[in-house]
Amino acid sequence: MQIKFCGAAREVTGSCHLLTTRQAKILVDGGMFQGSNFSEGKNHDDFPFDPKEIKAVVVTHAHLDHVGRLPKLVRQGFSGRIYLTKATAELAVLIWQDAFQIMKENQEKYATPLLYSESDIAAAAAACVGVDYEQSKEVCPGIEVCWHDAGHIFGSAFLEIQAEGKTVIFSGDIGNENVPIVRDTVQLPPSDYLVLESTYGDRLHESVDQRQKILLDLIVEGAKKGGTIMMPAFSLERTQEILYELNFLSEHQNKLPPIPIYLDSPLAISALPVYRRYQEYYDEGARELVLSGDDFLDFPQLKVTRTREESKKLNNQPGAKMIIAGAGMMNGGRIVHHAFHHLSDPASTLLIVGYQAEGTLGRRLYEGAKTVKIFNEEVLVHCTVKAIGALSAHADQAKLLAWVGKGAGRLKQIFCVHGEAHAATELAHRLRDHYPSVEALVPEYLEEFEL
Ligand code: ZN
Repeated sequence: MQIKFCGAAREVTGSCHLLTTRQAKILVDGGMFQGSNFSEGKNHDDFPFDPKEIKAVVVTHAHLDHVGRLPKLVRQGFSGRIYLTKATAELAVLIWQDAFQIMKENQEKYATPLLYSESDIAAAAAACVGVDYEQSKEVCPGIEVCWHDAGHIFGSAFLEIQAEGKTVIFSGDIGNENVPIVRDTVQLPPSDYLVLESTYGDRLHESVDQRQKILLDLIVEGAKKGGTIMMPAFSLERTQEILYELNFLSEHQNKLPPIPIYLDSPLAISALPVYRRYQEYYDEGARELVLSGDDFLDFPQLKVTRTREESKKLNNQPGAKMIIAGAGMMNGGRIVHHAFHHLSDPASTLLIVGYQAEGTLGRRLYEGAKTVKIFNEEVLVHCTVKAIGALSAHADQAKLLAWVGKGAGRLKQIFCVHGEAHAATELAHRLRDHYPSVEALVPEYLEEFEL
């Protein structure tokens, strides 16, 4: 059996791994590359394999960098099934439609090409087969896959793949400690090979207990200044968990300053019913809240702005307010408009709560840029910029090492992917220190290994 890394190798986005057995070729994830442009040029290149030869796709979770190129795969001749958890199947369709809207707007503005059409999205949606956690499924002759809860986002999984007498695990993205709503990451089962994410492979987050207090303090501070608190959030990552924290601060602790809080993301708004529908995926805390009659995705100060007109009106609305909007790395979406209007306002605050990939506007602001270019105009950055690592949906180095430790016994090789070169390399070093019998590698783009 061979594995070929067709994305997320020494970078965070574009997850796509080709597994070739004697009987079939399958793809694990088919994500979009993201950087300074919403849809990077690389996405438009041909896949480094023939999509017609792929027998099945198995998906870890519904983030764009894991599912974003699947409608393109269908467009280019893939005619098999896409297997994913039931919630992931619903969220993936929302993600594709949202990406399509952004690509269409970019096409109108900058004449950038579309990656796929609406009918490709419909075809990809029709190919989806929803599976349950902890149920093995033979996706092709000789290849069995089991989805285990990764605790990263709603519906997320790491995949245990059995083929040719070997077990290969694809971590997808591993959740942070005690992420609200979603359950904890399932323990790593015994396996021979592990493909491991390394987004925060070189970093440790603040303690989880501090998370809520840091968030509250920053909102209180921002509200006092009277400006706009902008929070770029992945519509399917932190947004719902942030709502959960805000609901708690508002309805259970009465500590939230009385400012309006806008959920300005059509994608996050459309995802709310999916969260409400799959209560069997909830962790204990979320289940208890629901049983007590608390809708943890709603609280009195929360207002949703679905249309573009409602969103635009926020620009001229005076007084302190908070706006949660995508895209999470500020490389597109409504958050860019808010940034354009408020970055130069000293009373405003930018609260960064998720991973910012190299080349994105969010990364430049995170690294302290004093001016940035938005819509071809120079914008001075005078607002306060703060980041909260503990609010990330990704495990830090300590959690990744501990998670691997539970299943390290039989492991031969670990491939560190889904991290910038320095993060992946640092994690590989730590893995070798902790588990000397395991070979930890950092594969290059299109590198192939015999398993
Ligand atoms: Zn993810």
